[in-house]
Amino acid sequence: MTTPINIIWFRRDLRLNDNAALYHALKDNNPVLPIFIFDKNILNELEDKTDARVQFIFNTLHEIQNRLVALESSLEVYYDTPFQAFKNLLHKYKIEKVFTNHDYEPYAVSRDYQIEQLLNSSGISLQTFKDQVIFEKAEVVKDDGTPYTVFTPYSRKWKSNLAAQPISICSTEAYFHNFLKLEPQIIPDLNSMGFQETKQSFPAKIISNQLMQDYQENRNYPSIPGTSRIGLHLRFGTVSIRELALRALSLSENFLNELIWRDFYQAILYHFPAIGGGKSFKPQYDFIGWRNNEAEFEKWCNGQTGYPIVDAGMRELNSTGFMHNRVRMITASFLSKHLLIDWRWGEAYFSKKLLDFDFASNNGGWQWAAGSGCDAAPYFRIFNPALQTAKFDRELQYIQKWVPEINSLQYPIPMVVHEAARKRCLEVYKAALRS
Ligand code: FAD
Repeated sequence: MTTPINIIWFRRDLRLNDNAALYHALKDNNPVLPIFIFDKNILNELEDKTDARVQFIFNTLHEIQNRLVALESSLEVYYDTPFQAFKNLLHKYKIEKVFTNHDYEPYAVSRDYQIEQLLNSSGISLQTFKDQVIFEKAEVVKDDGTPYTVFTPYSRKWKSNLAAQPISICSTEAYFHNFLKLEPQIIPDLNSMGFQETKQSFPAKIISNQLMQDYQENRNYPSIPGTSRIGLHLRFGTVSIRELALRALSLSENFLNELIWRDFYQAILYHFPAIGGGKSFKPQYDFIGWRNNEAEFEKWCNGQTGYPIVDAGMRELNSTGFMHNRVRMITASFLSKHLLIDWRWGEAYFSKKLLDFDFASNNGGWQWAAGSGCDAAPYFRIFNPALQTAKFDRELQYIQKWVPEINSLQYPIPMVVHEAARKRCLEVYKAALRS
């Protein structure tokens, strides 16, 4: 094709409304070709060929495609490495600019650098935008320009920045006539990429006003559907963070605070890229003498520890791809402290299973629980599963749902004794932190 075009490259921003890169692409001069790449570098690493996240992306692309076809345009979807896909695109189209949104994960940063080099060598510019967070990179830093490593002052500055720069929505719809006119293109099916369909159901995109208003009261009780389950949609950008934050601003400051945690962890990853390479945020914690017993790890993964709240959480995760935040904290603390298994094993397990898996938040959550993170729980604070149950699942409703055999002989006896495990943990942590 000889007419110059611009490209919008979708990644973790799978929506047509309020999408920053799409907005700027459509406002530019050329017709816009929307593309998505099923990235072989990522898909080849997924062991589970029924991974529901691939299905979720696939379903979402079809929804976007339906809207684009109604506009006489189409997505072009590749199953390739991004480098190879762009090489093909360079042969096929006369591209002037490529628009895309920032992604702060380690692989994404190197991928985007490589693509930028490729495009620049053909005289094409890669234009990138902030989209998946409210404030990014060094937008929220201390007055002396250094990054915050503690959440509370970060959130205070975040809120004062917001008061000075209110959120504005990117009204893409006004420019939809600028999509490139194109016959509908075929989206590769899951089988052709080595994946299979799953029957997994996905949480809704909609959060009621009531849920937001009652959020603070309900959010800590795993038997109550009191949290939004919007994580998956934020992860893949099927919901706009700007629209969500605007609602939270008017309905629930506590809900807003959770969205700020999300920005905080993305900023930590940006400022401290070593955590992307597997390092503890606090380097002394890399001296901990983990026991790393594989049989014990198996029991934890399978929800067979004999600690009902831990087992309920792991079983919820294994069968739904979701685990309640309170229980994420309990299971993570149990693995790293009671069992003295390297938190990175747990981090990797969650990354395979969570529908809302996000590198920055997952790493932040794990390092918080293990004590090695920025603003982490102090190492001597070891969750007592029984006390956590008494506080947050007093009637055992959550536990009975996931561990129905709790009172039978089939249920395993506790794999460690709480008090002994606590003492052992304190000794091992102390030894590492002294060295
Ligand atoms: P809600 O309570 O309804 O909160 C709304 C949104 O705010 C969430 O969807 C999420 O985007 C954000 N949020 C809430 N709490 C946090 C938090 N503590 N840190 C960062 N963002 C937060 N969150 C992920 O999005 N992806 C992960 O991979 C992830 N892994 C975690 C691992 C561990 C060990 C722990 C302790 C926490 C982890 N979290 C992760 C944070 C939190 O548990 C989930 O965001 C939350 O449980 C998702 O459920 P929800 O959508 O119903 O959240």
